[in-house]
Amino acid sequence: MPELVPEVQRRFARQIVERLRAAGFEAYWAGGCVRDQLLDRPPHDYDVATSAKPDEVRRLFGLRRTLVVGAAFGVVVVLGPSGAGQIEVATFRSESGYHDGRHPERVAFSSAREDALRRDFTINGLFYDPIEERVIDFVDGQADLRAGIVRAIGNPVDRFTEDKLRLLRAVRFAATLGFTLETATRQAVEQMASQVTVVSAERIADEMERMLVSKNRTVGLRLLLETGLAAEVLPEIVPVDARQRTQLENALGVVDRLERPTFSLALAVVLFGRVSPAGVERVCRRWRLSNQASDRAEWLVAHHGCLKNAPTGRWSVLQKILVSPGIEELLQWTAAEAAAKGREATDVAYCRECLAWPPEKLDPPPLATGDDLVRHGLVPGPIFSELLARLRDAQLDGLIETKAQAMAMVDRLVADGNVLGSDRA
Ligand code: ATP
Ligand code: MG
Repeated sequence: MPELVPEVQRRFARQIVERLRAAGFEAYWAGGCVRDQLLDRPPHDYDVATSAKPDEVRRLFGLRRTLVVGAAFGVVVVLGPSGAGQIEVATFRSESGYHDGRHPERVAFSSAREDALRRDFTINGLFYDPIEERVIDFVDGQADLRAGIVRAIGNPVDRFTEDKLRLLRAVRFAATLGFTLETATRQAVEQMASQVTVVSAERIADEMERMLVSKNRTVGLRLLLETGLAAEVLPEIVPVDARQRTQLENALGVVDRLERPTFSLALAVVLFGRVSPAGVERVCRRWRLSNQASDRAEWLVAHHGCLKNAPTGRWSVLQKILVSPGIEELLQWTAAEAAAKGREATDVAYCRECLAWPPEKLDPPPLATGDDLVRHGLVPGPIFSELLARLRDAQLDGLIETKAQAMAMVDRLVADGNVLGSDRA
């Protein structure tokens, strides 16, 4: 997808409202973008709410420049020019009859006011008129925004009963915005926490990711633990005795100091010490993370502590870690751990020095390949990978420097019966 240019995106969002207005409809910016703008944060996308019905929106912007994404919900995506991204234009609606705790049974097109009332939290229930530059507030959202409060619109128990994802969203918004949960809203989250399990794994993971990569990730984790949501979505971290409590505090101290964690890294750090690398992988599978993300989390936990004493350890061991794709995250973790202990991160500094070496020094091409072994008269088999690995280590540790020396080493290893299945052609 082409890069978004914030001013272009914003201008386009304004033009959409102008076009709808010119055609006689009511139209406003809605939800998160209004909240973010009032908080002086750059909105990452703009949503428009309008009295126009989906087919009217399509007719206005052209079939080719629009996509119907949620016909039942009245959501049409309008594609913008380069740099403007796309904007969701949704018809004012009210929702009712949530039976599965996630999705409404019926939606009815309605007024701006009703559309505000169906939204989750007052801070997310605001409209903004970009032409008159005026906020339209049916839910007292501006007061809560100023006071830094996440408050459910209406009766919190009812609102969480309708849609259990809101339990996690409440905590996520409180954490990422640095807001407090309004008392009744918080009580409802605590009372209903166990019901969050009806939410799909993907949505849970999505909320967890947003929370864990944000600056306030430890605030989020503490809120999850205090409200009882952690016991449902991440029971692995809930402490059951004093030892685990200390361990959790230590983990939070490190998580908090991560510079810019990926989801995999933050997850690895909170789970470290509580579950094995395989246990980390199980959490990732449960949340249906990509193979890449779950492999990375597992690799990080398996290699925790491996950068310790980097300057004095064997180069062939350290080098393999340094050239691994997860190295930046492992360095972040190691640095955060040193910071949490009030120590200087000397190992990290040394690794950074090595990473700045030219590639032929950091990761030189191998002295010998499988073809060389074949030419040397060996029959391909499992023995090959073992021989090549031994040669690689010897090369990295400076024990051999030429292909001839590598082949001499092969002869020695085979003659000593030092490798498995050593048979020659
Ligand atoms: P961000 O995109 O930063 O996560 P957002 O507020 O834009 O925050 P979205 O998930 O993009 O969140 O949803 C846009 C708007 O739709 C919200 O601001 C809110 O008004 C409404 N909304 C989203 N999810 C729900 C929900 N589960 N229940 C009620 N309203 C919701
Ligand atoms: Mg949004």
